[in-house]
Formats: sequence, structure tokens, C-alpha cells
Amino acid sequence: MGSLATSLGIVLLSLAVAALLSWKRIPGAPADFVITNCSIWTADKDVPWAESMADVACSDTEFRDLEGQFVVPGFIDSHVHFIPGGLQLLRLDPQHTHLEFTQKVQHAAHGLEPNEWLQGFGWSNEHWGGEWPDSSWIDSVTENNPVWLSRMDGHMGLVNKVVMEICDLKSVKDDPVGGSIVRDEDVPTGLLVDAAMILLTSSALARASQYAVSKGVTSVVDFGSYFPGGSIKDSWNDVEEVYTWMDSLGNMTVRSALFFPLETWPRVAVSSDKRERTAYKRLVHIDGVKAFADGSLGSGTALFHQVFKFIDPNNFGLRVADLSWLSESVSAAFESKLQVAVHAIGDAANDDVLEFTLTLFLNILSNDEQIYVCITELVGLQVEHAQHLSPGAHLKFGKFSISASMQPEQLLDDAYYAVKELGEKRSRGSYNLCSLLRSVVALGSDWPVVAVNPLGVVRAAVERTPAGWSHPWIPEERIYRYTSLAAYAAALEDLVGSLTPGKFADFVVLSESPFAQGTGNFSRVVATFVGGNIAFLSRRYAKLGKLFR
Ligand SMILES: [Zn+2]
Repeated sequence: MGSLATSLGIVLLSLAVAALLSWKRIPGAPADFVITNCSIWTADKDVPWAESMADVACSDTEFRDLEGQFVVPGFIDSHVHFIPGGLQLLRLDPQHTHLEFTQKVQHAAHGLEPNEWLQGFGWSNEHWGGEWPDSSWIDSVTENNPVWLSRMDGHMGLVNKVVMEICDLKSVKDDPVGGSIVRDEDVPTGLLVDAAMILLTSSALARASQYAVSKGVTSVVDFGSYFPGGSIKDSWNDVEEVYTWMDSLGNMTVRSALFFPLETWPRVAVSSDKRERTAYKRLVHIDGVKAFADGSLGSGTALFHQVFKFIDPNNFGLRVADLSWLSESVSAAFESKLQVAVHAIGDAANDDVLEFTLTLFLNILSNDEQIYVCITELVGLQVEHAQHLSPGAHLKFGKFSISASMQPEQLLDDAYYAVKELGEKRSRGSYNLCSLLRSVVALGSDWPVVAVNPLGVVRAAVERTPAGWSHPWIPEERIYRYTSLAAYAAALEDLVGSLTPGKFADFVVLSESPFAQGTGNFSRVVATFVGGNIAFLSRRYAKLGKLFR
């Protein structure tokens, strides 16, 4: 047994009475319960460990023996793009004939439970000469499962007869506004166009949620599908047509804190006041706005003080937004008490953000130290990625209470590339998580760029030393940054992020301690709870299922 595990035993033995924690509940929670006989790491520095915890204890509370499992707060992934990621999960490989299309669907349906949805994305009738598919192509191979298959352009989808029966499509006489139901002599063929796409994006969101909870993630900070040059409208369409709808049906399984393009800050500001925004109506939460200061390293558009070495020796990168517009808009968003996230990869882009933030603070605060402290608590600025920093820039993050939202798995993948492109000396300021330890660093994945995988990041912290580092990070430090500090960065710390009385019962049951080192064993997600409701139970640990029903 390693030294950390030994000291854990001593801490638990010193607890004469197990701490009993209780939480808020959300409507629909099936039963009150207390879990016992487990090691609970709370991420709450006042009460870091407990042996039991309750979801609103009352007289008929059930007690559940977790047989020594390990419990941590639900992980918060601080950077995802949920619908684009969900769409990738649904992607079909290209098929080139009618027969291949049918066989691919038959193969995908094999092994599904009856009534389990089969969803796919990416077919094109151009691959087989232009003929439109209809439900008869797939009905005989999907008799027990509802099927939704979207065309690669996302403007059309094919459903099978099971879905048509569920939706009673035959009785729908009028096409929805902005879309159409394709018919052959008044009989729906199974093809739905445009406005019906809500079925697909909803499926993508549902699949993304299932994926996240299977990794122990109970909250995500979702930056949607907006990128520079993209449609600002899509972000709002997604929330109005998909998130809100899914949430109202109770189909969301993960808490989602949504960010919108900075250009639309007035709309975010009027969506609700600060108090409402921080009180989850169900699981969807309007959190703030996002802007871009530069592009990416790989595309040669990250903004640096010096030129790239190989991509283009005359290229410093790209300043994506006009600085005075960025500064004015961020200032206005701050005044409306919005969370503001700014994407900055290169050292010059990070300096841009730090400089205008400093100027904003100084303008607002008249150098009054007392007021300064208050204001920095009221406004929330987070720099997304913060990958390459100038010497000394890390100190400004701490000084001005700026959070850094970082993605360690990108670090592990890109560190070598950064050295190659920027040179040994310049890349010393790259991915410098250690130097930011005194600041709030929230961790995430940037999914679908890399997988949602908090435990994998913890494992990497134990196993791998990134280029230029002398040692891996301490796992516990990482878990704080996936839980309590991630909640703080997103201004959700009153609700989630630690197992503290009064917060939501978002927690993960693990097969063993994620802090153990040198054992060769790594913890796996056994079950994930959101708001006291079970959102995921691993098949591998199905025998424990009786404990959670
Ligand atoms: Zn991103």
C-alpha cells in the first residue's frame, strides 16, 4: 500500500463519527438515501473526507452499503462542444450502394436491446447515384428499434417505420414551419427535412450526455457550435430548440452551463438576472459569453510575439477580433455580471487579454484596493486554453483573479509539437500548468477535440511526465481542478463542485481511490449520480445495481 493510501486510512480512523452530508434535491429524485461503508473525498477543504453521506435524510431513508467503494464529487468538464461532439458519436461510415447502406444499418442494429434507439449521421445519396432512401430500405433489419439517420449535410434525415409509428407521422397532414415530411402519394417515406432536424440534434445531445456521465462527468461548460466566421444564430437556436426542449422533458442527464458568442452579450444579459442564471431551472444554465483572441497553433493562427519556425517564417499568427471592440464588449459583459471566456492560445493573444483586462479593472476601480477586491469577485474572466504564456504572464492570472481553463490531454499530445514549432526556449512557456497553480485552473477536454476523460487525465498525471516537466502533477491537484475549482471558474461554486451540505448531490462512485499510486490499478466509474438521481451504472459493476434502485 502506498504512503498516500496509508495516510488516508489514518484520516478516516480519526473520524469518531462519520460526517453526514446532505444536499439539495431536484424534482423527480426517486428516493432519499444514505450511502455508507465507502471512502468519500469531498473536495471541500473544511471537511475533506467522510464515510457516509445522505441525499436528504428522513425517517424512511434507505441505507446502502457501498462495500468499500470510493466516492468523489461529480467531475466538471470545463470546456466541451456538446452538440458537435454528439453528432460525431452518431457518424456513419460512408456507404456506396443501397445494399451497403442497408447492411451497415443491420450491423449497427445487431445486439441492441428492443426499443433502444439506433442513431447515425453522415449518409449521402450521392454515394449511390442520387436515389433518395426510404424507410423500406431499413425496416426489415430494424423491426424492434427506432432509427434516425441524418444525411451528411444535416438538412435531412431518414427514420424507420418504428419512429413513424411513435410519431404517428401518418396523421400529420401539414408540414412543420421551416421543414417538410417527404411523402409518396400522401404516405410518409421516412425522410424528414430541415425543421425536423431537432430530432437529430436532440439525439446528439442525449448521446453526448450519456457519454459524459459514463466518464463520471456531472456538469459541463458548453461552448456550443460557434467558431469565428460561423453562425451566431446557431448557438441560440440550439438552446431554444434543443436544450430547453430536452430539459423540459427531463431528458438532460448532465448539468450544462452554456456560453454564447460575445456579440450577443445583451441577449445573454436579459435572458435572466444573475441570481436566476446561477439557479439551475433543471439542468440547463445560461452562464456567459465567449470571444476569440486568436486561432490555433496547428493552423498557424495562434498569435505570437515571434514568428512560427516552420509553418511560415513570416507569420506571427492572427488577431481574430478587433482589440478595442473586444475590450468594450468584455467591459459591457462584466458590467452585466456575465461570465466571460476568451479563447487565447499564443503568448501575444494571452498578453492582449491580460492587458485589456488590467486596463478595464483600473478604469473601473480608481486604484481603490478595497473596491478592487469586491469587483474581482463580481466579474468572472476565464482564458480558454492559455497554452503559451510570456515570461511573468502567469503571475497576472493570480493577481487579477483570472481563471485559466486548460486541457491537459492536449498538452500531452501537443507538447512535442510545440517544441518543434516554437523551439526549445519559447516552448518553456507553453502549457505551463505548474506556474499557474496559484491561480484558478479549471480542467476540461475541449471535446470532441479530445475525449471526455477526467480519470484518464488523473491517470496521465500519475504515469506521464510531459516534455519539459520534471515530474507529473499530483492527482489530487487535478481532481480539485475538475471539481471545486472548475465550479468556481464557472461561478457555480454555490451549487456543485464539492460534496458539501446544501449543494446538489452530484457524485461519482469509483472502483478504487483515484489517488493511489504505484499499484498498477486505476479507478473506474462504477456509477454517476446527478441531483441524487442515478445517471449511469457501469455494466461491469451491474451487481451493485441493486444498491442504486
Ligand atoms: Zn473549444
